Amino acid sequence: MSLIDWEQRVIKRVDACKDELVKLCSNLVRIPSYDRETRGEAESAHLVGRHLEQYKIPYELFKSHPSIENLVAALEGVKEGRRLLFNGHIDVVPPGSLDDWTVDPFGGEVKEGRVYGRGSVDMKGGVAAMTVALCVLKNLDVPLKGTVIINVVGDEERQGDLGTTWCINNIWEKIRADASIVSEPTGTGTMGRTLCIGEKGPIWVKVTTKGRKAHGSVPLMGENAITRMLRFLAALLDQELPTVPPPLEREVLIQQIAGVMGMESAALESLLAKNGRLNFLHAVLEALTKTTLNVGTISGGVVANVVPDQCEVELDFRILPGQSPQTIPAFLHELARDLGLANAFEVEIISAFEGTSVPNFEADSLATTLLTTSRELAGPTIFFMATFATDGRLLRKAGISSTVVYGPGNGALAHQADEYISIEEMITATKVNALTAMRYLGIDE
Ligand SMILES: [Zn+2]
Repeated sequence: MSLIDWEQRVIKRVDACKDELVKLCSNLVRIPSYDRETRGEAESAHLVGRHLEQYKIPYELFKSHPSIENLVAALEGVKEGRRLLFNGHIDVVPPGSLDDWTVDPFGGEVKEGRVYGRGSVDMKGGVAAMTVALCVLKNLDVPLKGTVIINVVGDEERQGDLGTTWCINNIWEKIRADASIVSEPTGTGTMGRTLCIGEKGPIWVKVTTKGRKAHGSVPLMGENAITRMLRFLAALLDQELPTVPPPLEREVLIQQIAGVMGMESAALESLLAKNGRLNFLHAVLEALTKTTLNVGTISGGVVANVVPDQCEVELDFRILPGQSPQTIPAFLHELARDLGLANAFEVEIISAFEGTSVPNFEADSLATTLLTTSRELAGPTIFFMATFATDGRLLRKAGISSTVVYGPGNGALAHQADEYISIEEMITATKVNALTAMRYLGIDE
């Protein structure tokens, strides 16, 4: 049987699995998995395991903490070949104030073609879509020339070390692959579906300016740390931040987005110019092509009539792939020197991660296969970057450089009240997952 015939069978079977897919997602949402007291992360992994058992797919659970178990299942093909990994996290963020919700955050309610609840879109729907894709491939005995692996992990939202990092460090042989897909939600609504080929690196720093205390009635007797900080921040916000060329240039992004919206690049550019800085798209384009800075906190001083001797701010820089995190503190020190503040100035790195991306993604076998498959089945799809961090960065750093982020649902709904995932999108993503695996690994016709 040819690849096309196999694909038709797989698509049909996924359609027939709609109820099973919805039930799995909804049941996963019903297990609160945001704190370590309740064992929700372990229970969720067990639920995925029981689903795999129905299809006689062997799986293993690896305990990284009393309340966290990471699941690995592999479907061996008829021949040895490439290995494709799907990664999804099973933990969620807390529901927040229940007053903001119109549904039970852990009810898993199904209505209006959606599954509602905390974690539905981020990312139990994505986990359900990768699990059911594996089950369909197994159920139909698709003769794959390679191996499909799924790794369901905990501890992503806390950016902890007990999920993907733990798997990389402890069971690398089980999850090692030639390429991987992190099934986080990458739908956008207006811009179609995005396929993220990289993500920026967050660099958090604490900057302190020092001064000398004095009585507030004679301010010139002291050195004011707050006014020093104000001078520093004003100069900082006025500077071009150090950056490197982005993996996706602005023109390329504009061209792709204009294509999805059915307009010329020039028309979109003039729309952007008219709406100026308030435009959502402008903000996203800036974030994807440059280093950004958010001044997150500021504190200093004790009382109005004392000249303050210390002021602190916390800054969140997001750097592009290819830029060294060290460029940020070096830049800050140089600026302080230029302002004559070098002796009253400290920089402490709170945390620093490099940005990462798929090298030469336009020729990458997985990225291009997934892009084509998504365009066929899910509609307009564009290459994009994530401004936020996902476990994809860990897999790229561990050696699976061909790691992309792509999954069902609108990412903007993540961490919100009344979070939901579209059932239609889950079905489509299940098909995209299965067909991408078949096309990437090849089948024995
Ligand atoms: Zn997520």
